Amino acid sequence: MAADSSRFPALSLPLMPALAATAAPDLVIRRARIMDGTGRPAYEGDIAVSGGRVAAIGALPGSAADEIDAAGLVAAPGFVDVHTHSEGLVRAPRAEGFARMGVTTVVSGNCGGSRLDVGAFLAEAEAAGVSINVATLVGHGTVRARAMGGAFDRPPTPDELAKMEDLVAEAMAAGALGLSTGLIYAPGTFAKTEEIIAVAKVAATHGGLYATHMRNEETGILDSIGEVVRVAREAGIRAEIAHLKLHGKTAWGRSPEVLEALGRARAEGLRITHDMYLYTASSTSITARLIPDDALDGGTEKLLQRLADPARAAAIARVMRAELADRGFDDYSYVAITSCARNPALNGLRIPEAARATRGSASLDDQIETVLQIVRDGGAGAIYHAMSEEDLQTFLRDPHTLIASDGSPGGAHPRSCGNNARALGRYARDLKLLPLEEMVRKMTSLPATTFGLKDRGVLRPGAAADIVLFDPDRVRDTATYQEPRRHPEGIPHVIVNGAPVIRDGEHTGAPAGRALGRQAPAA
Ligand SMILES: [Zn+2]
Repeated sequence: MAADSSRFPALSLPLMPALAATAAPDLVIRRARIMDGTGRPAYEGDIAVSGGRVAAIGALPGSAADEIDAAGLVAAPGFVDVHTHSEGLVRAPRAEGFARMGVTTVVSGNCGGSRLDVGAFLAEAEAAGVSINVATLVGHGTVRARAMGGAFDRPPTPDELAKMEDLVAEAMAAGALGLSTGLIYAPGTFAKTEEIIAVAKVAATHGGLYATHMRNEETGILDSIGEVVRVAREAGIRAEIAHLKLHGKTAWGRSPEVLEALGRARAEGLRITHDMYLYTASSTSITARLIPDDALDGGTEKLLQRLADPARAAAIARVMRAELADRGFDDYSYVAITSCARNPALNGLRIPEAARATRGSASLDDQIETVLQIVRDGGAGAIYHAMSEEDLQTFLRDPHTLIASDGSPGGAHPRSCGNNARALGRYARDLKLLPLEEMVRKMTSLPATTFGLKDRGVLRPGAAADIVLFDPDRVRDTATYQEPRRHPEGIPHVIVNGAPVIRDGEHTGAPAGRALGRQAPAA
């Protein structure tokens, strides 16, 4: 990543102060339709960039070392993607998927999982020369695993809780933006609300926020929102609900109720927002969503022991059948397999197809046995086509909803390469769900202020020069479930801290990003 150089270059000639102030900028973007990220109407203008910052906006005469003709293009703040799993950027520093959809800042460490040593992670991101800015949360699951050892289906002892609090305090001091939980994943799923409140209080003391993958995103979602509200209230912390969704047919149609519950919490004075990605399928490990919680205690080794015992495997299968019915599905045809290392031939198949291929039958018993065999063989990812488009659109229209991809470098779901372009193309331009300026706000100033990222997510003099230029008539996502790594069209230029990372559609390889530590309490 670039060293901080938020200064004008030294001038070699004595100049009048007035002239010095207008010394040639590093880059001028000409004739752009500027959407500044606040939601105000677009206007035409030039943008001058110097020393990694926006130097001026308006009708700017003179010349610059470098210029981009942006006639016909929208200039917006680079997109701030607050829900990602980006630990892998240290090994994939070009951040192709994110950069090519206009994302200039990612927040990692979500869903309860982060690097334990946040300071080391941020330093490694800098040293790796990542092309986009990187920030992180500290994961409650990560901290819980370190403090409690292998047996998780219990509350922590007082000593263990104190250890968790210390680890969170260390991470916050090292620059974490806040605390994340993943309450469907081991070991977070075994934490009671009181434990979460205690640990969130530590993050609150440091001015951080609480971002949560809730315990239930299905028919029990209102109880889970109640838990988020309780944490926000009792820990005195700003809360962010991650990837808001209604998973499973039996939960469909509840989006108005969910938004009402969140509105009541805000009316009480609590600061609660939520993010979402713009797809009706989710993606996570096959184990996390399909294997019952109580089979997960103690980790993979214990799970495999249980699955090796026919009586216990049968009991697990019975719970799986019941959970499937609770979700309103007759079988697992809504689940597609990804990233199956042991048997790559299964990748892309729905579970019934995989059952037919491996067991010669697609009966529900054979589907369940297929899932269990995948888990025994080391697990896999899966894509779950379990949401409704109507709920998605209801959530997206809400002014408190911000847009985040839940993507990762190399992710097997199209959101990792398409999410932001899909917001601009499909949902703003084609379906006219929201004005383009408002859609941009949901990807820029709203996430940046929520996560306390100062001088990001807005185009104004003095702000960091993170800028995306897109063609509002052509921008569209092209990544699909079959080809999730296809990059979007209509986003020709992406600038990070003043340096073009995408130029005329080509990745420049510029190590332009910075590690962003927590700068100020979340507003
Ligand atoms: Zn999650």
